[in-house]
Amino acid sequence: MLDQETRDYVGGGLQKDEYGADEVIEVACPLCGSNDKDLIYVEHGAIGISQCRPCRLIYASPRLKSPEQVYWGDAERYFEEARLIYAGKAASHRDPNYLEELDLIESFKPTGRFLDVGCNLGMLLRHAVKRNWTACGVEPSPSLFALARERLGLSVHNCFLHELDEGQVGKFDIIALSDVFEHICDPLAILGEVKRLLTDDGIVYIKVPNGNWNLFKQRLYGLMGRRPATLRRTSRWSRRCVDGDVA
Ligand SMILES: [Zn+2]
Repeated sequence: MLDQETRDYVGGGLQKDEYGADEVIEVACPLCGSNDKDLIYVEHGAIGISQCRPCRLIYASPRLKSPEQVYWGDAERYFEEARLIYAGKAASHRDPNYLEELDLIESFKPTGRFLDVGCNLGMLLRHAVKRNWTACGVEPSPSLFALARERLGLSVHNCFLHELDEGQVGKFDIIALSDVFEHICDPLAILGEVKRLLTDDGIVYIKVPNGNWNLFKQRLYGLMGRRPATLRRTSRWSRRCVDGDVA
């Protein structure tokens, strides 16, 4: 049973339930550059999930004009979000995921220098440190950076990945982008930065949402009477989702 403190959960960040058309922009496919796409569904009022016709990549368009600013939240609210974890009174609800991710990474490389890109509050990074990785994070948000460093004592750089000086930070055996890559406006450019900071036999770990699962989830919401995202019947993906053969 949840205690009062757990029920008082407060989410940090500046994400909104609804966005207007003036807060988003249409963008070309980040993989092949094409503008030829089908809109699959719309969530939070104006954010689109689209599929590129030539290369079939599913990506966000229209997307927020400045997606990184979602994480420019107030430090006090972020602290509220994680205060039970910082106090040792609760685990993160994502801890099982983090441990599974580290198990997977360690099955390829058991130890070494670990960089967590977009480490947020340091929830994955703290597990990496406990498991004897020489680990640090990079986090552009000043408030998230401060909390990860001051509350958890983690080594975190307050900048974007491309601002990390290889001469200062060295190269890494693992560079992890866990629930980060889908937020990157220019994914090919960030892969170049990853390559710059990776050892010759290093490993890039990327975890992104499962497109099939998310489309299936939207359909389930509709069946359960919860407000679904606006599904469009303009693509093979959306037809499969609406017609019920995505599982
Ligand atoms: Zn494409």
